[in-house]
Amino acid sequence: MTEKCIIIGASHAAAQLCVSLRQGGWDGSITVIGDEDDLPYHRPPLSKAFLSGDKTMSDILIRPAEIYEEANIDLKLGVRVGAIDREKKSVLTDDGDIYPYDKLVLATGARVRNLPVPGEDIKGVYYLRDTKDVLAIKSQVAPGRRAVIIGGGYIGLETGASLKKQGMEVTILEAMPRILQRVTAPELSRFYKRVHQEEGVNILEGVVASAISKSNGRLNVSTSCQQNFDADMVIIGIGVIPNMELAEMSGLTVGNGVEVNAFCQTSDLDIYAAGDVTWHFNPIYERHVRLESVPNATEQAKIVAAHINGQPKPYNSLPWFWSDQFDLKLQIAGLSDGYDDLIIRGDIKNSREFAAFYFNGAKLLAVDAVNSPREFMLGRMILGKGKTLDKKAIADESADLKTAVI
Ligand SMILES: Cc1cc2nc3c(=O)[nH]c(=O)nc-3n(C[C@H](O)[C@H](O)[C@H](O)COP(=O)(O)OP(=O)(O)OC[C@H]3O[C@@H](n4cnc5c(N)ncnc54)[C@H](O)[C@@H]3O)c2cc1C
Repeated sequence: MTEKCIIIGASHAAAQLCVSLRQGGWDGSITVIGDEDDLPYHRPPLSKAFLSGDKTMSDILIRPAEIYEEANIDLKLGVRVGAIDREKKSVLTDDGDIYPYDKLVLATGARVRNLPVPGEDIKGVYYLRDTKDVLAIKSQVAPGRRAVIIGGGYIGLETGASLKKQGMEVTILEAMPRILQRVTAPELSRFYKRVHQEEGVNILEGVVASAISKSNGRLNVSTSCQQNFDADMVIIGIGVIPNMELAEMSGLTVGNGVEVNAFCQTSDLDIYAAGDVTWHFNPIYERHVRLESVPNATEQAKIVAAHINGQPKPYNSLPWFWSDQFDLKLQIAGLSDGYDDLIIRGDIKNSREFAAFYFNGAKLLAVDAVNSPREFMLGRMILGKGKTLDKKAIADESADLKTAVI
């Protein structure tokens, strides 16, 4: 009898997984059940080129429809899975359909975190996670109109840059003392604040939005220190939470996401998980992490496919990520938390091109490279090999980068 693989979610992890499964020799059925209506698409452009209008829907599709057809992959789009029956090895959709499985993969990703203040759900207030969100935002974009963005993380900053490029007046409110506080060093936060200000974006830090209201067609964001910000649109970008309820309801082990082993198997060995939803051990950093990045979703999908196809390969990847804002291409290799020393190569105070190397003692932890692809590539290679770099040679811009490799 034909074996059945069901994948829940139809985004980065799922799109990679179904193709890798076929390439690895899986000749059973593959059914992808995703609750969005679109074919799997690249999510990163949503706050960048898709929002700014430089890319269209067809530009951001991960693969054209024919690829799924040719590989005999059954895409059930606009369909939500509501439950998993582990005893019967089947999933139940909200439409009442039952799909039996031999192998099940949770590629359910993450959803936006809601801002717990009055007015976060009124018309003109948006979150940004999918194409529907962006199309709604885009319909309100016009030069001279005013946007208030709540949240100064990567999504908030990218969104601010895209709207500014389209002639909007943009104010970003960050509750913490500095933007990007959760993910970068203070030096990087200051750099991003400077560039945004040079581009005309208003950034306010340590400002906590406490309510959103509307009167006479205008939105108003009030803050805990009694400030008020007038707006035509408000966009909230304060992080995401993993979609792990299906796993929880069916008794799988969860932490800050669905817990998986080195082969991306959950506590039920016929159920796998991949992408933003996973809580997994990273051998390079020797701790559990949950990553929100396309490279991780893609890599974990390949690990799942290899295991299902009987060619197991344990997960051992260096986390990496990128962010585009104005003319800045940031590339990040590794995880910087726990650093005690930061070495900057280049002029972070006056230019838009430098790399920041995060160390713990002599150990290199991560590299944030802004418009510096060579430094990023070197950092990624060094971190991947478990090597480190000489701090003095790194700091000396006149020294050849290669001389820094220890
Ligand atoms: C605006 C934006 C910009 C980003 N920029 C970058 C970037 O520059 N670089 C980078 O590396 N990463 C970026 N990311 C993060 C990246 O998009 C995610 O890491 C990636 O999408 C994770 O893929 P995934 O397949 O794990 O999950 P997701 O993309 O979250 O997809 C999961 C899918 O499963 C669906 N689903 C959930 N539950 C069910 C259910 N019960 N039934 C059916 N379907 C379900 C969801 O609706 C969703 O469609 C960005 C994200 C956003 C939102």
